[in-house]
Amino acid sequence: MAPPRRGDLSPEEKDLLGVIAAGNTEEAGRLLGSKNVRVNCLDEHGMTPLMHAAYKGKVDMCRLLLRHGADVNCNEHEHGYTALMFAGLSGNKEITWMMLEAGAETDVVNSVGRTAAQMAAFVGQHDCVTVINNFFPRERLDYYTKPQGLDKEPKLPIKLAGPLHKIITTTNMHPVKIVLLVKENPLLAEVEALQKCYRVLDLICEKCMKQKDMNEVLAMKMHYISCIFQKCITFLKEREDKLDGFIKSLLKGRDKDGFPVYQEKLIRESIRKFPYCEATLLQQLVRSIAPVEIGSDPTAFSVLTQAITGQVGFVDAEFCTTCGGKGADKRCSVCKMVMYCDQNCQKIHWFTHKKVCKTLKEIHEKQELEAAKEKRKQEKKQKKDEVQLVEGSSTSEEQSDPCPDATKEMDLNHATDQTEEREFTKEMEALALHPESPLESETGLADIALQKIQDSEE
Ligand SMILES: [Zn+2]
Ligand SMILES: [Zn+2]
Repeated sequence: MAPPRRGDLSPEEKDLLGVIAAGNTEEAGRLLGSKNVRVNCLDEHGMTPLMHAAYKGKVDMCRLLLRHGADVNCNEHEHGYTALMFAGLSGNKEITWMMLEAGAETDVVNSVGRTAAQMAAFVGQHDCVTVINNFFPRERLDYYTKPQGLDKEPKLPIKLAGPLHKIITTTNMHPVKIVLLVKENPLLAEVEALQKCYRVLDLICEKCMKQKDMNEVLAMKMHYISCIFQKCITFLKEREDKLDGFIKSLLKGRDKDGFPVYQEKLIRESIRKFPYCEATLLQQLVRSIAPVEIGSDPTAFSVLTQAITGQVGFVDAEFCTTCGGKGADKRCSVCKMVMYCDQNCQKIHWFTHKKVCKTLKEIHEKQELEAAKEKRKQEKKQKKDEVQLVEGSSTSEEQSDPCPDATKEMDLNHATDQTEEREFTKEMEALALHPESPLESETGLADIALQKIQDSEE
């Protein structure tokens, strides 16, 4: 069969494009079995069936087309778009991942010089950007599990490839998260294993910088993880409490405001130690971080995360105070000012949080009080009948608001160290009772909305 040309479609191929748009995989499968259908045919814009399916976010269809030999790196589109670019534009993370696993090149640029990650970022599909920038095929790591050149032994023992790959592809690069991932695997949490791993990471970093299509983002990520591993080694060698000691150091807040100074300094130092000073990314990071006083925003972690994952700001979700996990939805039941993924993350943080929890609680209560005062002021402006009605319900609400459980725990928090564990268990129980309740916040919003309506009626 002749190589496909743009717009040169058989009637069956035209049918296939229609069937893809409709999402009918069964019919598409039947058509793909026909000898008049080429899986990599091109419509008048140079789009393949796979590009169509990716752009329309049809997961099953993409899978079917790849099974039938669709070329994931076809680059015949009139503006140089690839299937990965279409996947990124569609905002479908699963398809983006599928294209990458099928071997999609990440460094190809379209006719105006943009990569798939840059295009996805441009249209605000940040989850797809994260997927692309953090993709690292397992085969690239497995290369180091075979002896190369004159080596008698591989640089990376095969048993370490899995756990290391998990860390390399994590999208949460919080130092505590990385140490937790190291800790969870006994094979990895040893000096010798970590030495082998960080050397391999350094080699990958070097390769990323020296290859023709340089990848500074991946190079920086590898270097950063390598730095964390090297610090793990130091703690394993020098500290009795080993990696727990490292986690404590990373989380320990300064007296003034609880800001984790060691963590900030470690991330800054890791970035500065990036061995390729001419890298644009390094210069960007240093420019963003250098003028910021320690303890102010943005933190080095947020600047680094933004550079590597393409995530803009930390606005659309809550992040765990301990491990940086996205979508944390448990609040400290006492101060209600810090968020965690789960009780384990809270437990790890408690040794340092307990020093500022009370102060934070006061701040929180002051804020609540101001809000309540403001609310009452508003309410007094209402007509008499309405005032009675609204105040009646809101007073009882305010009285129950300081949360009797939390107050009880406040006292426990300041008990002696011996009872700390027991108190802690109690607080843990309370924490479980205080997830972020969407119901509560919705009620809050409804209150505000109601207030607004009443104001306008006045
Ligand atoms: Zn967490
Ligand atoms: Zn607290």
